[in-house]
Amino acid sequence: MAAVGFIGLGNMGGPMALNLVKAGHQLTVFDLSDKAVDTLVKEGAKKAGKAGDVVKDAEIVITMLPAGPHVESVYLGSDGLLANAKKGTLFIDSSTIDVPTARKVIAEAEEKGMEMVDAPVSGGVGGAQAGTLTFMVGGEAASFKRAKPLLDVMGKNVFHAGAAGNGQVAKVCNNMLLGISMIGTCEAFLLGEKLGLDAETLFNISSTASGQCWSMTSYCPVPGPVPASPANNDYKPGFTAGMMLKDLRLAQDAAETAHAPTPLGAQAAQLYGLLEASGHEGIDFSGIIKLLRGEL
Ligand code: NAD
Repeated sequence: MAAVGFIGLGNMGGPMALNLVKAGHQLTVFDLSDKAVDTLVKEGAKKAGKAGDVVKDAEIVITMLPAGPHVESVYLGSDGLLANAKKGTLFIDSSTIDVPTARKVIAEAEEKGMEMVDAPVSGGVGGAQAGTLTFMVGGEAASFKRAKPLLDVMGKNVFHAGAAGNGQVAKVCNNMLLGISMIGTCEAFLLGEKLGLDAETLFNISSTASGQCWSMTSYCPVPGPVPASPANNDYKPGFTAGMMLKDLRLAQDAAETAHAPTPLGAQAAQLYGLLEASGHEGIDFSGIIKLLRGEL
């Protein structure tokens, strides 16, 4: 069993770290929230006084932080991870961040004689709790091989997406498509409703026909057809509209840098931006149907 450090014990990182503890790994943890740390300590993890202390005994360190600036400051600060870690330490950053920051931090880690992969996830809080996340990993093949046994504990599908940063590329492409497909699904159900077709019937037909997609079959934006979807629970997340907006904005930044036309991705970012502007970024992302209905 490996000595593992874990930084960022929020909605995702908390349950991911817990699954590693349950699998018998020795965890040293740090978060700005004492409450989040205490929860893990109660389960058998060791508490570190600051981020830099996590690396002292760890062979592998996982980070699960909100965004690029947090990752940069935790890794590159004068008292950060790279300044304190031993050569050969493997870092796994599972945060969803912009591609340039991911590549910059990995390059600096490798320059200092450490290994690092970007390994963002899909699957949400439910997947983190159940240990069924999908990991999209960018980095050297040898680092991927070293990271995989731990990722297998926290996830069900672990993909090597290629060179450093490619995990973030896969994530941003996937989530741009998810945002677009959710809006398309909402439009289809609203159109059906206005034309007199009930949601259950449209679902039964479309979920087995060519309009089928994950937004429809797992997160159906109208109550009824998929009992576990947030639409049946007043659009409580799930995956918040704010998180979706973050990912759509990352996709737009990446598209601009790469000179890739993404007109529907841009439109999706604008629509989720309207949801945020109306103060509803905390609802599930399928709640965009309320905006299209004119209810917000
Ligand atoms: P969260 O806000 O619940 O957790 C982030 C944690 O990081 C918090 O506990 C915070 O205290 C801690 N933190 C922030 N700065 C820190 C620092 N400098 N040092 C130590 N700890 C620090 O966020 P989350 O929902 O767990 O998401 C984490 C990442 O996973 C994000 O990048 C998000 O985009 C991505 N993600 C989230 C979901 C989801 O459904 N929530 C799904 C897929 C990916």
